[in-house]
Amino acid sequence: MARHVLPQPVQRLIDEFARLPGVGPKSASRLTFYLLRMPEEQTLDLAAALADMKARTRFCSICFNITEENPCLVCQDDTRDPRLLCIVEEPLDVLAIERSRAYNGRYHVLHGAISPVEGIGPEDLKVAELMRRLEETSFDEIILATNPTLEGESTAMYLQRRIGSTNTKLTRLARGLPVGGDLEYTDEITLSRAVEGRQAL
Ligand SMILES: [Zn+2]
Repeated sequence: MARHVLPQPVQRLIDEFARLPGVGPKSASRLTFYLLRMPEEQTLDLAAALADMKARTRFCSICFNITEENPCLVCQDDTRDPRLLCIVEEPLDVLAIERSRAYNGRYHVLHGAISPVEGIGPEDLKVAELMRRLEETSFDEIILATNPTLEGESTAMYLQRRIGSTNTKLTRLARGLPVGGDLEYTDEITLSRAVEGRQAL
């Protein structure tokens, strides 16, 4: 569709959708035209949900998980082991590991993984925040729980180099996780075995 025939507000929404990960120009148009035909009330609900999500959630200033309260409930929870730290890529990975019930320490959410192909480097992740945290707080064990993908593995290797010089024990989730898979899609039993069988690096 030629750009100039679309009303500007429609084109604007298409452009916004196209900026989302995994949404190409075609899906962006399809979503926009779907919304265009949707009852007004439903469209307003969607807009309100977006605004509400932004207004009422933020990143935890300690672990960078998404939270309504700062610090988040995990960071506030005194019954959790403060000497254990688990580093994950995304907030959904925290959820997956919590579901496995195999872990009772703290987290650090990187918000992505190193990917030269997509131009994502350590400076785009919460790595500087992690290094600062490690200077202030000491842990007995740090679990590198990035995904078993190419990006996840290179991120774990990078962090191993950065953290490896300290005395902290570094571990990686046990093999047996599907290679190329994401933690968030791993079933609870597999994930809890991977956490329990984690290996020293
Ligand atoms: Zn937190």
